[in-house]
Amino acid sequence: MTPRHPLRPESVIVAAGRPAHEPGAPVNAPVVLTATFHAGSARGYARDGQDTTVAFETAMAAAEGAPDGDRDGASIAFSSGMAAAAAVIESLPVGAVVVAPASYYNFHRNLLDEQVRLGRITVRTVDQTDTAAVVAALDGATLAWLELPTNPLLQVLDLPAVATAARARGVRTVVDATVATPLGLRPLDHGADVVMHSATKWIAGHSDLLMGVLSTSDPALAEQLRQRRTLTGAVPGALEGYLALRGLRTLSVRLERACDSTAVLARRLAEHPAVTGVHYLGDPDHPQASLIAQLLTHRGALLSFTTDTLARADAVCSRVGLITHATSIGGVESLIERRGAYAGEAAQGTPAELVRLSVGIEHVEDLWADLAQALA
Ligand SMILES: *Cc1c(COP(=O)(O)O)cnc(C)c1O
Repeated sequence: MTPRHPLRPESVIVAAGRPAHEPGAPVNAPVVLTATFHAGSARGYARDGQDTTVAFETAMAAAEGAPDGDRDGASIAFSSGMAAAAAVIESLPVGAVVVAPASYYNFHRNLLDEQVRLGRITVRTVDQTDTAAVVAALDGATLAWLELPTNPLLQVLDLPAVATAARARGVRTVVDATVATPLGLRPLDHGADVVMHSATKWIAGHSDLLMGVLSTSDPALAEQLRQRRTLTGAVPGALEGYLALRGLRTLSVRLERACDSTAVLARRLAEHPAVTGVHYLGDPDHPQASLIAQLLTHRGALLSFTTDTLARADAVCSRVGLITHATSIGGVESLIERRGAYAGEAAQGTPAELVRLSVGIEHVEDLWADLAQALA
């Protein structure tokens, strides 16, 4: 990338991670499908990473404001978001103390709970929105696992305050910013040590792959995480790397459409007689509205809502036609599911009637017509 002026994030994700601008060179990073490389260089085996994945990592590092290292910058791609999280959590030393949110992506809770069951770590659960409680829990801790905003309740924590307090106590902070996307929030700018994304979601954006990515501005930590990936073989395939990079290129336009539609749908849902509550980052009465205004550059393409009865929550999911009844978020196609149906969600206080809607890029009036008939 040879920009002639500092680029805005929407331009960075288009321009970064491309081959050198040379006559006859390809404009896009080629898909390199190989498990091994000819002997005689530092690179021997694809477990260390692939050229295509490196291009994705270079673009992500630029987007996150993590420095570009000599090899693949300070973003490290993984075979899934869970593999990325596991690289952090499963490399904690025995006896580590982890501060974790009371409500967050429930498979991360499963990952931490498993480490507790194995007798390796202890977890202190805190309400992330209670900054004083989070800071109090940091004393003597090893790692704070944070999520901003949370999936599916869209809670927002005071990241600058928590990151500053953690740094003063030598506690490492990791922020899962999947729902914010790299265009909505750059946690490293607010003092976080590591930002994690499930690239499966908005980054890749088409529900056609699993991938995760960690970014850090600490080169030593980046190297540790990269070595962890090599050790466990949690490396993404080249086709996934290619598709994730291709997805990243169009993130800003997909988000713009989806966020606009989400605002409309959130407002109409809130007025619907069968809907008892809506969780949406753009709600002026959101309990963390001022933090949202301070930290997030968009209001997101995710909302969740509760209905008057459990039967209706299930009916909405089964009656939709355009919207797809399936788990996951962040695709161009709108996805809906009753998140409260998961035991792991119930265990962390998600209401049983909570329906999560990931808004895609279909026409907003078609989405509303579909929701309205499903709610009727
Ligand atoms: C989906 C998701 C993950 C897990 O990522 P996978 O790519 O599915 O392994 C982690 N955090 C959040 C917030 C997610 O939505």
